[in-house]
Amino acid sequence: MIKAYAANEPGGKLEPFEYDPGELGPDQVEITVDYCGICHSDISMLDNEWGMTTYPFVPGHEVAGRITQIGDHVTSLAVGDIVGLGWHSGYCHSCPSCNAGDHNLCASAQGTIVGHHGGFADKVRAEACSVIKLPEGLDVESAGPLFCGGITVFNPLVQFDVKPTDKVGVIGIGGLGHIALQFLNAWGCEVTAFTSSASKKTEALELGAHHTINSRDEAEIAEAAGSFDMLLSTVNVKLDWNLYLQTLKPKGRLHFVGATLEPLDIGVFGLIGAQRSISGSPVGSPATIAAMLDFANQHDVQPVIEKFKFEQVNEALDHLRNGKAKYRIVLQQ
Ligand code: NAP
Ligand code: ZN
Repeated sequence: MIKAYAANEPGGKLEPFEYDPGELGPDQVEITVDYCGICHSDISMLDNEWGMTTYPFVPGHEVAGRITQIGDHVTSLAVGDIVGLGWHSGYCHSCPSCNAGDHNLCASAQGTIVGHHGGFADKVRAEACSVIKLPEGLDVESAGPLFCGGITVFNPLVQFDVKPTDKVGVIGIGGLGHIALQFLNAWGCEVTAFTSSASKKTEALELGAHHTINSRDEAEIAEAAGSFDMLLSTVNVKLDWNLYLQTLKPKGRLHFVGATLEPLDIGVFGLIGAQRSISGSPVGSPATIAAMLDFANQHDVQPVIEKFKFEQVNEALDHLRNGKAKYRIVLQQ
């Protein structure tokens, strides 16, 4: 039996929950969970904000742990390997996206916490190809958050060919945003942190930002007109997107990774005249996750974490809900 923490209704408290995972599939591995980060998406799923949660619901998709069982067909991993697991725990392997190496765009990908029990547990199972070994020397305690928060902000740098000469703004300095500042700085970019929290300004500069702007101060934002090649939004709330568009250079891109529920209200002339783009992206493919881990290891990119015991999971969730997490909460056994 796997011992997990589950909620039985939208917004419900997590309670101890056991389930029988059945026989291990030939392409699966079982990970003994040592650490699991808490992403804002765990809260959105717990609350069924996206209308796709099934209960009992076991959150957790930023797992770091050890392989303790492998299926008969698995050759890429061995018992004892130190690994991580993110948003996806399997792919179809036969669609055009999978064939192109874009497994993260596979419409039939298995979500780790969508119709599947996640990593707030002593063990979690996944298809071997979605489980990535940590490079030698990478800190295990803080590695989990790289598997969702980290890859989500790293992937756009690869997809959109961000250059070291680019000026990039990160909107929202939370779990995703604080890793984005570190990646972009290491990538060579001139980095601006947009934050609504006065208390994060100095820390944002320490994390790799060269400048900060108050993300809710219209005058400050307006002053930055025409400045950025790219803006990466990690917030889950509505901001004045038309004002933000004006801070982009011609051909600039406003890119969404934060799951803002309210529809975008974009004036098309902010796009047409300066040939600007708006886009969004999910996590990354297994290959990009592996490249991201190597890059993080090479450049000392490390999530800043606050640790809670698994038993304190409800307290930890409240801490994140109240906007107090600095910057990513990690649960430990
Ligand atoms: P988080 O740690 O809660 O960070 C979100 C940040 O947004 C906060 O730290 C805050 O930054 C800013 N914010 C919150 N409320 C705000 C408000 N009213 N006005 C202005 N700024 C506000 O969340 P996270 O784990 O980084 O996740 C961020 C979003 O990304 C969530 O929607 C999550 O579901 C989504 N996500 C998407 C993917 C994907 O595949 N695309 C993957 C993971 C997560 P400041 O304090 O700096 O203002
Ligand atoms: Zn996530």
